[in-house]
Amino acid sequence: MRHRDNQHHGIGMTSQRTRERLIQRLCDEGLANAQVLEVLRRTPRHLFVDEALAHRAYEDTALPIGHNQTISQPYMVARMSELLLAAGPLDKVMEIGTGSGYQTAVLAQLVERVFSVERIKVLQDRAKERLQALDQRNVVFRWGDGWEGWPALAPYNGIIVTAVATDVPQALLDQLAPGGRLVIPVGSGDVQQLMLIVREEQGFSRHILESVRFVPLLNGPLA
Ligand code: SAH
Repeated sequence: MRHRDNQHHGIGMTSQRTRERLIQRLCDEGLANAQVLEVLRRTPRHLFVDEALAHRAYEDTALPIGHNQTISQPYMVARMSELLLAAGPLDKVMEIGTGSGYQTAVLAQLVERVFSVERIKVLQDRAKERLQALDQRNVVFRWGDGWEGWPALAPYNGIIVTAVATDVPQALLDQLAPGGRLVIPVGSGDVQQLMLIVREEQGFSRHILESVRFVPLLNGPLA
């Protein structure tokens, strides 16, 4: 029993230290939104990966979550959240690519409501369980194709896409509220750029931010 307690204590201490180290690293890399950093500090990323990978959960790296998919890199989760929130608080945000649910959990602590679309049913089910376990209740999930968004509940003040699209999906532009912000990686393979697109009074403004590396936005839902 004492042995087990020590072990738990040990793991807790290690993860607290490594968690702090990750946040420090994100600060060093220029992430400056204190609210976003605080949410990353308190979100238990180790609960969003397999137990066998939990010891690597606070490295600033993407990790496999099965089905050829990855949990996004903490830097990218923070960066995209920051971009989404840069013009002020958001109430309705749609996320395309729930995956592990980690970015979903982060967003849910930063905005009023999150609408999250995922094409792989089993990933979505697991993400749902994790958010329930964390008692995060302001998220609704849709099993479907992110290229189509979620038109029934549009418009959204923010849309975030966590897989790389060959082109910006027209449906997502259509579902953006006036002043709404879309953060999306665009390109393929080695050539991918993170983009911010803002719906202006007339048309859209587009900003290219930095080179990124994401798994592709695929077609159609998958059971
Ligand atoms: N934010 C997630 C990233 C998961 S990787 C996380 O941190 O865990 C990208 C996710 O996008 C995968 O789960 C993949 O299944 C999903 N995806 C890919 N194409 C999609 C599409 N057309 N519609 C919805 N989800 C899609």
